[in-house]
Amino acid sequence: MEERIKLANNLKVLRFSCMKCGRCCKDEKTFVNITFQDILRLHTGLKYSLEDIMEVIGFYTFTDVNVKEFMNHMVYSPLHTEKGLAYIGLLKKKNYRCTFLDQEDNCTIYPHRPTICRTFPFTYLLSDNGKSITKTIGYTRKGIEYCPGIKKTASIIKKKKISELLVKSLAEIVADAKMIETWNRMVKKKQITPKAGKYIASILLMERKLKEEYSS
Ligand code: SF4
Ligand code: SF4
Repeated sequence: MEERIKLANNLKVLRFSCMKCGRCCKDEKTFVNITFQDILRLHTGLKYSLEDIMEVIGFYTFTDVNVKEFMNHMVYSPLHTEKGLAYIGLLKKKNYRCTFLDQEDNCTIYPHRPTICRTFPFTYLLSDNGKSITKTIGYTRKGIEYCPGIKKTASIIKKKKISELLVKSLAEIVADAKMIETWNRMVKKKQITPKAGKYIASILLMERKLKEEYSS
């Protein structure tokens, strides 16, 4: 099927040069969702054990303030946990800074950062009319709101490059949704107990199989 790449909202070009201001990593209402592949990156890239991982991630229910804000825009799937349905995300410190942001506003896990951090501030919409698929690329709501890296003087980025990044990220989110769906189904059938830690442990146990299946 034919594939087309378009730019959103009358954008003529995509621009981006990260100013390293750290706003995306310390915004009060920016929630850093993570996939099971992000969990594996922490495990294999940073040699994090299950206990280490549990110390840097949180399970956010629908009533948590930073999740409530995003419910209508959330593309990740919630997991059945002992607290109820919850989204998995990186923990924030009391001042809303990501747990991995250092005092100089540098990401301390940059090569292993979550997929959502890799694609920011870009997003895309897919439309399929049966004859062609159109990818419409633009900036995220948060990107437009506070990212100084997309200003008019920033470097022009090739839309094909961003498209490839977004496609990879979407594949990861879809695989994550399938994994969570399986877990949630097993919980409903009472085949497993909905313990958040147990879910993460199961990801680590399946590490080799998952890596073979979804090489990142
Ligand atoms: S808000 Fe934009 S410019 Fe600032 S660190 Fe994040 S991506 Fe870079
Ligand atoms: S993981 Fe790194 S890039 Fe992502 S929010 Fe945290 S500090 Fe920022």
